[in-house]
Amino acid sequence: MGMIGGGLSSFIGIVHRIASYTGEEYKLVGGAFDTDYDRALEFANKLELDPSRTYPNIDTFVEKELELPEEERIEAVVVVTPNFLHYPMAKQLIQAGFNVICEKPVTNTAAEAVELEELVNKHKVVFALTHTYTGYPMVRQMKSMIAEGVIGKLHKVDAQYYQGWINPVIHDPEKRKTVWRLDPAKAGQSCCMGDIGVHAFNMIEYTTGLKTERVLADLNTLYADNPLDIDGTALLRLDNDIRGIVRASQIATAEENRLTIAVYGDKGGLRWEQENPNYLYYMPEGGVAQVLKPGHEYNSDFAKISTRMAPGHPEGIFDSMANLYLGAAKAIRGEAYMDGAFPGIRDGVRGMKFIEAVLASANNGNVWTEIVD
Ligand code: NAD
Repeated sequence: MGMIGGGLSSFIGIVHRIASYTGEEYKLVGGAFDTDYDRALEFANKLELDPSRTYPNIDTFVEKELELPEEERIEAVVVVTPNFLHYPMAKQLIQAGFNVICEKPVTNTAAEAVELEELVNKHKVVFALTHTYTGYPMVRQMKSMIAEGVIGKLHKVDAQYYQGWINPVIHDPEKRKTVWRLDPAKAGQSCCMGDIGVHAFNMIEYTTGLKTERVLADLNTLYADNPLDIDGTALLRLDNDIRGIVRASQIATAEENRLTIAVYGDKGGLRWEQENPNYLYYMPEGGVAQVLKPGHEYNSDFAKISTRMAPGHPEGIFDSMANLYLGAAKAIRGEAYMDGAFPGIRDGVRGMKFIEAVLASANNGNVWTEIVD
């Protein structure tokens, strides 16, 4: 495995590294870890990586790795740089024949995501998109129960993703400049919807298997001189006229990482909350509400295979991400595995189309806007 970004100061790099080791399918051997080459070397030294495979940038990474015999060459490359770099980096890697594990949002525009999808198909590489939360055993249990019809005919889906970390910076224009997620050149077209709304959207389509046909969105930048949304709500019209909602905010003051997905059908409801990921609330119509937990026989095969520990040993984001890495490893080796084991480029295209439809809806006076796919 190689990694682009993810070096010393990075936030999400460590989650990817631990996740890759957890499944015991990957070994980090090189990368272009940082914009600063000295810091990249310091990072490599700390991890006892071969300095000759610590490259100053992605161009050198690709050039030097391709010079190696295939059996020595890095097989999968993780892209954990800021948003604006995902598309050019993923494109370069796919075209060079590497399998790619990429952070979200997959690109800056939906057209770029469609282009990547074509390239993935053309070059026959594996592309995993790390919508981390899809790896949790109880999210997979929720997906299995919905598919088995346990909660009946669906009629309402609600995904909420509330954080508060932008509140302390947004009121001061100088502080805002220190946050790349608020800079359109680095974050892309959207802050809140691109960063976390897209996770919530993905959770809806992932758990229900439904497709969103159109959205009606309202976004808030809070200040006229802040160009990107930091809060927003999107009403969703899904297949079969099912109603849904994505509520996302980064100014939900003092909230931490409150991602909740709730799905309701005519026979019952299911609710999962990221801050307490081992509990899946199952509320059968007319019955006793239950809390389902990982590691038990009553769970689906998909949930069971996604749990490493015996019941009662909490597993978290590292383990969830590890499940995506495991799924991608199976695909790279061409081994049959579980459906839905990792989100791919199709999910990336769906996510980008959602973001663009949300922006179009909000900018055109909160009108219903089709997701054309
Ligand atoms: P960060 O700013 O903490 O880290 C970015 C890293 O990329 C830094 O190490 C930086 O040196 C490196 N970098 C930047 N440009 C580079 C270049 N040209 N070549 C090599 N390295 C370069 O950012 P972060 O919070 O870790 O976010 C990174 C990505 O991960 C974002 O796209 C974000 O949306 C995504 N993310 C996803 C999740 C999730 O739950 N899946 C959570 C957090 C972040």
